[in-house]
Amino acid sequence: MKRAILFISLIMLNSLLYSAIKVEFKSGLSSEFVQTELIDNIEYFNIFELNKVFKAIVNEDILDQRLKVNIYGQQLIILMDSSYLLFRGEQYNFTRSVVQENGKYYLPTKFLSTILPKLLPEKISFDKGKLIAEKPIDNSIKTIVIDPGHGGKDPGAIGYTKKNFEKNVALTVAKKLQKKIIDNLDVTVLLARDKDEFVSLQQRTQFANQNNADLFISIHCNAHRNSKVNGIEVFYLSTAKTDEARAVEALENQVVYDYEGGEEAVKKYDDLAFILADMAQSEHLEESYHLGTKLQAEMISKTKSHSRGVKQANFYVLRGAYMPAVLVEMGFISNKEEEKKLTNSSYQNKIVDAIFEGVKDFKIRYDNME
Ligand SMILES: [Zn+2]
Repeated sequence: MKRAILFISLIMLNSLLYSAIKVEFKSGLSSEFVQTELIDNIEYFNIFELNKVFKAIVNEDILDQRLKVNIYGQQLIILMDSSYLLFRGEQYNFTRSVVQENGKYYLPTKFLSTILPKLLPEKISFDKGKLIAEKPIDNSIKTIVIDPGHGGKDPGAIGYTKKNFEKNVALTVAKKLQKKIIDNLDVTVLLARDKDEFVSLQQRTQFANQNNADLFISIHCNAHRNSKVNGIEVFYLSTAKTDEARAVEALENQVVYDYEGGEEAVKKYDDLAFILADMAQSEHLEESYHLGTKLQAEMISKTKSHSRGVKQANFYVLRGAYMPAVLVEMGFISNKEEEKKLTNSSYQNKIVDAIFEGVKDFKIRYDNME
């Protein structure tokens, strides 16, 4: 009997401690809830609810003791351990201090009912206990396309021993990477090819565009006439380039000449180049560069291989991708040592872990996963 009373009072206590504020979106008739909880009898909410409900980006700046909240394209700066925020150079007081608990930040719900409607009157209003808000744009990364280079009639680069082909290494690593990302991040990961088949370069980016991919990662192995040449490098798209980048570019673009119809096919890609490269990739160059830099740093730190850096080149396969896109050269299969590594499962896992860390970092940057 006593137990039953305790149980019931626990339920009641729970319903008192946890509550929610309804948010109705103007268009689409959809709604969401901001979960709230009582702290010292005052109703608070975890600041990451802003991310969940309003697709806001929340960054904590420990050094400056600030929380930066990007919401509906506007930035609010909340001063930790205070009840003040800055917005467009003005101070606003939401009367109760930010509460910090177990690395989480809680704001009083007054912030939702009074402050947000005052700061963003066109976007949010508060009426009869609920918020009415404009549907936020969701910028979070939801779909990633991994592109294993070459395939089918196009073997890609051939190993030092002549026994291993780039196309097989690329597919193996791509499949491992797909699994790693799916197992650890809440995203869809698609492969531009999942078996040993020929897929044209254009089809690969088309596939990514059609699936509304937020990220495109092309996986390759490098080759050089000089078998001593070794190391890892990452490329992103550009027309500006060095001679070395031009050499890799020629190698990776060769497939069009060899397997997609010679001069004519090359011309088709070149005509397309100006229009597509301009429209599609130029607005993502900075993101692609950041992703490339992070991937390269992770790969070098995990494999201890020689770093050839992050470079720009004009790859056909990156053209026309309407999303941040990079091309990873995991090492030189034409180098005796690196061929051994590239075909070794534990080395492949290091590369996979490194790319995964880079992707995770990129995702956090973009949608501020909790
Ligand atoms: Zn390749």
